Amino acid sequence: MDPKDVFCRVKSRLSGKQVVAAFAHISWGQFLLAQGPRGIEHLGVRITTFLRRLLGMEQVRVLGAEFEEDRLVIDVAPSWTKGRCSTCGATGPIRDQRVRRWRHLDVGGVECELRYSIRRVECSSCGVKVEQVPWAEHDTGFTKGFEDLIALMAQKTDKTTVARLLRIAWLTVGRVIERVVKRYGGDPSERLRGLRRIGIDELSYRKHHRYVTVVVDLDTRRVVWVAEGKDAAALDGFF
Ligand SMILES: [Zn+2]
Repeated sequence: MDPKDVFCRVKSRLSGKQVVAAFAHISWGQFLLAQGPRGIEHLGVRITTFLRRLLGMEQVRVLGAEFEEDRLVIDVAPSWTKGRCSTCGATGPIRDQRVRRWRHLDVGGVECELRYSIRRVECSSCGVKVEQVPWAEHDTGFTKGFEDLIALMAQKTDKTTVARLLRIAWLTVGRVIERVVKRYGGDPSERLRGLRRIGIDELSYRKHHRYVTVVVDLDTRRVVWVAEGKDAAALDGFF
């Protein structure tokens, strides 16, 4: 998919609501901002629990947080301790580590980043690989939640608007859509567990010549399935 050819159109109102829901943490953001610029670690254990729930991610520990000018930086770590290969998931000895950051969903209009000292793992099958982290894929500076938001917004409006609203590069929007399609295009059985209500949307690219069909879990606001094509034929694979 050439990012330049990707563009999207309004189809249903369902995903619009989901986008609004993703921005609905405003009061939390005001609360955090009120804690001042010196950092919020002094609030103790309860604030890390609070932040973990705010992030809403599974298998993620919150270690602390601080404000860096106007940005909220949350220190996180995987819930597991051994380094896992990002390609195959096998554990292996740690080679080295360095601090990395991932842009996450804004908190009350405040830009939010996750920070973690990511390790490189010596995998017996794949060689030296960066470790797997639950909040992001290995080749991106965005969290999965932030990328999902980009993909959802791209279904509702043009790339220029998405880029401006989320303060990201225009070219990045296309790359993220490709990654989200790839991420949710595989075996859907895991993501379909507990599915009760779904929303279906179509997204066109290559100047309306090609389509992908997106199925969204309306309860968790997660994309659960994506396939090439549109209309009933594309959905056959899902049902
Ligand atoms: Zn491996």
